[in-house]
Amino acid sequence: MTATAREVAPDAAPALRRAVVDAAAITANVAHVAETVAPAAVMAVVKANGYGHGAERAARAALDGGASWLGVADVDEALALRSAGFTTPVLAWLHGADPVFEAAVANDITLGISTRLQLSRALEAGTSATPARVHLKVDTGLGRNGIERSDWAAVFEAAQAAEASGRIRVDGMFSHLSNASDDDDLAQLAAFEEATELARATGLDPAVRHLAATAGALRLPATRLDLVRLGVGMYGLSPFDDATPAELGLRPALRLETRLISVKRVRAGTGVSYGYTYRPEHDSWLGLVPLGYADGIPRHVSNTGSVWVGGSVHPIVGRVAMDQFVVDLGDHEAAVGDRVVLFGDGAAGHPTAGDWAEAAGTINYEIVTRLGRRVKRVPE
Ligand SMILES: *Cc1c(COP(=O)(O)O)cnc(C)c1O
Repeated sequence: MTATAREVAPDAAPALRRAVVDAAAITANVAHVAETVAPAAVMAVVKANGYGHGAERAARAALDGGASWLGVADVDEALALRSAGFTTPVLAWLHGADPVFEAAVANDITLGISTRLQLSRALEAGTSATPARVHLKVDTGLGRNGIERSDWAAVFEAAQAAEASGRIRVDGMFSHLSNASDDDDLAQLAAFEEATELARATGLDPAVRHLAATAGALRLPATRLDLVRLGVGMYGLSPFDDATPAELGLRPALRLETRLISVKRVRAGTGVSYGYTYRPEHDSWLGLVPLGYADGIPRHVSNTGSVWVGGSVHPIVGRVAMDQFVVDLGDHEAAVGDRVVLFGDGAAGHPTAGDWAEAAGTINYEIVTRLGRRVKRVPE
């Protein structure tokens, strides 16, 4: 087949919608947290496509920063990391109703075990040549995933018997904090210590104990234990309402950007976008931004969010549509092709994922993970 004259090389023009990912920022963020929490080790949590940053790029950058584990929600995500060539220990902790662990065991993926069924499936998948590696996940108060306290004794005994068979190895034990308050988190720590003591009394030796995610790792040193599971912090985002990334020594790793694709002058009172939910008070320049809710732009930022255009920040006006939204530039001189940064590093004057979260009534985690498939992830 010969190419026709009408074909355009895919890289001839910069992508319409770009998530520019700064791997060096991820490396620096992980290195900073690793130093803060040492001697505890760092697991880089790269679930959900690395919180929208690209799982492989994020994992590689995190290992460069000193992470010694990778963490994901499910086994498919873990297998994808193995296919990409990562040989680091990987933990996967969320499983379906009818879990099948053969591929996980064959690929040396450590399984987070929260139920008796998961334990027995791990036992079925393990062999004496290749035992299933497991970390028991206990519910210490979050009320979500994890072995319930009333089941601890029975499941620990079953795990000990399974380990004696040589087909599984209980390498670790973990739990997850509610972040409801420091007191609640410390009560969970106490419950976790009870669980590990009970496990030891049952004959288990869970060598790797872990409880803290980013928030605990940074603000509750007692929860660092042997390993911290670092998610949002490795991407340079703050898990706290009262601290910016910069205040935590972190740098946001993702900048969502594009260019204005249309600029027009409208008269005061002109209705903008579906439903005319906005009419400028004065004659204004309106700029058109080619991202919409299909790209993960929350429709809730209609008339509440803002973006950076050519050096200053301007409001998103009218309803966000599937593929586009409008910015009121007032009298700001702008032209088609001007650079637009939707969110990025506050230290560079850009709106942040946190600003977007506030405008949309959500959290920064959701803003970055929800980016759609049409947004091209590109290196800085
Ligand atoms: C997602 C997740 C993390 C990472 O949490 P951050 O707040 O992003 O650091 C850690 N542990 C578990 C079990 C998780 O599901």
